[in-house]
Amino acid sequence: MKRLRIVAKVGSSSLVCPGGGLDVARLGLVAGETGALLRQGAEVLLVSSGAVAAGLGALGLRPGAVTLAERQAAAAIGQGRLVDAYRGAFLPQGIEVAQVLLSRTELENPRRVGHLRRALAALLRHSVLPIVNENDTVAADEIKIGDNDTLAALLAVVAGADLLVLLTDIDGFYDQDPRRVAAARRIDLVEAWTPELLAAAGKPGSGVGTGGMRTKLSAARIAAAAGIDTVVARTEPGVLARVLEGEGVGTRFRAHPQPGPRHQVWLRYGATPRGRLILDDGAVAAVEERQASLLLPGIKDCRGAFQVGDVVELATTADRVIARGTALLGAQELMRWLAQQDRPARRAVRVVQHRTMVIAGREPGDGLEQG
Ligand code: GLU
Repeated sequence: MKRLRIVAKVGSSSLVCPGGGLDVARLGLVAGETGALLRQGAEVLLVSSGAVAAGLGALGLRPGAVTLAERQAAAAIGQGRLVDAYRGAFLPQGIEVAQVLLSRTELENPRRVGHLRRALAALLRHSVLPIVNENDTVAADEIKIGDNDTLAALLAVVAGADLLVLLTDIDGFYDQDPRRVAAARRIDLVEAWTPELLAAAGKPGSGVGTGGMRTKLSAARIAAAAGIDTVVARTEPGVLARVLEGEGVGTRFRAHPQPGPRHQVWLRYGATPRGRLILDDGAVAAVEERQASLLLPGIKDCRGAFQVGDVVELATTADRVIARGTALLGAQELMRWLAQQDRPARRAVRVVQHRTMVIAGREPGDGLEQG
């Protein structure tokens, strides 16, 4: 029987002391919970924040007043401590752990995603628990994912997970901020992404993490598009076991009933475009209306130094991006073809295959743009 594969993400707020530094007892709780899931036969990938907070604590710095370089330095100090603490908590349970540090680069194109997927599969095959975090010391600017809720959702998509669990310091998703509004009500089940829901997510929350409810909502949406349920719940004893048994715990975001292929969900949310193809009006209509493959004669120009297999944007002559897809030609070869206007063979050259394409703004289910 196929084992249930779960991506569980734990936020900084669940792992650090109020005054800074790692809270080893709370980390032990997470390790105990995760160990219990593994013993029940599930496969788990643990995404853990806390590196920056732990490093800042070690340096005696407060999160509010640090430069980017100090944050990167804090991540370098804290990441080692974090994984050390996890190893200490998992080894007595007979569980070996592995550190996996990611940035957008590893999610950039199908080849890299393939490498990542196979490495994770090898760890799971050897019953090793991957402990995943963003590589905050070197991931800055455009290679940064930025928050671990999104990272966990993308990981769930590429690792073929069945369930995403986001553990935090609040016991679910509320219609208003429960820390400020006494009448706030928890929403137990979310089945559609409405404007009210996005409004309820408010602004990023606690000082130490970067997420808050807004990134949890976005993460749940990515997972839902790929057919994966998400549960947002409080880090407390027994929580993961209860989630697994399907008990009403926290907020469950239901997967979309007609999810998109995972490859396309990755393409929309995880991939990094390396170039742009400018299409003539006929090709724009063919892509937008018929989702036809993109052939060479429909291309007026291209930008960027993309290679075969890289993700590119498809845009109108007014630079409106209408789709993304995986390039079947590299930029240099494409430029050569574009310079040879009179060769009849051009007509048959495919540049982006329709199966590897996603159309901008069209998402299974809700019709809302990503917040
Ligand atoms: N990767 C960061 C850390 O380990 C946290 C990012 C987040 O909280 O989402 O500290």
